[in-house]
Amino acid sequence: MCPHCKKPGKIVKFGSYQRASDKKVCQRYRCKNCQRTFSETHYSIDYRLRKRYINQAVFRSLCSGVSQRRCAILFGVHRDAIARRLLRFGLCAEHNLKVYRQSRPSVTQLLFDELETFEHTKCKPLTVAIAVEDKSRKILALKVGKIPAKGPLASFSRKKYGFRPCERRACLESIFQDLKCCLASQGLVKTDQSKAYPPFIRRFLKFWNHQASPGKRGCVVGQGELKEGHWDPLFSLNHSFAMIRDGLKRLSRRTWCTTKSPKHLEFALNMYAWFHNLLLESKNRKDLRLDWLSSPSPESL
Ligand SMILES: [Zn+2]
Repeated sequence: MCPHCKKPGKIVKFGSYQRASDKKVCQRYRCKNCQRTFSETHYSIDYRLRKRYINQAVFRSLCSGVSQRRCAILFGVHRDAIARRLLRFGLCAEHNLKVYRQSRPSVTQLLFDELETFEHTKCKPLTVAIAVEDKSRKILALKVGKIPAKGPLASFSRKKYGFRPCERRACLESIFQDLKCCLASQGLVKTDQSKAYPPFIRRFLKFWNHQASPGKRGCVVGQGELKEGHWDPLFSLNHSFAMIRDGLKRLSRRTWCTTKSPKHLEFALNMYAWFHNLLLESKNRKDLRLDWLSSPSPESL
């Protein structure tokens, strides 16, 4: 499809050129509809990125607890170059996670919980709803939403930043909609004892059994997510949460790297989720399949 007029008209070849940065020969096309030209790289993830050779390393670093600014220092690029890549990788990872959900439609054991973080200051908290498959620990879906501050910070937050909407229900609803395509008709869903979940489970998981486990205190190691005691029914979930907090710099405990935009947090989380699933799938971790970083990306780019 032509990227200029977005109409499915006739497209013909229109010469080729050699890309300066990596000497690749790229085909150009012309749209018969609007007479404008574009190249085969238009829809690729590295379109107009000159230092495309750092993409793989940047992706791995951002999912391994390295901050964006430190990434920029390590790879000798401007911090905007890293921020730009975060957006593109995030979009692609979101698409890949969706494809992954559609490719395995018989999940029978689901774990579900929310992780809390904040944007800019603790007065502006965010919730991240995450669904994980039991045993395999694979992340199936996630969604970020704003929530108002609680406890002693609540009144101060309202005074300083005004009214803050609660997007928790919308977040839960969207995640259950996303999960629809990969769940079996019957199964077991495990959550904590939050009162917000049963209405959604009754609505979206009609024939599923629901097991609600009481919360436990976090152990000293484990990012506040791994729990004390020898048996945790929500282990697969808490372990994944601990890995997410360890893998994304902005979610670590007591860090000075903070999220500035909920949307960007969602991009980073999608990247991590996809990376996490790949790690769990791959037998040989030396050559992880990150080949999509140089292949055509979804049309949303
Ligand atoms: Zn056109």
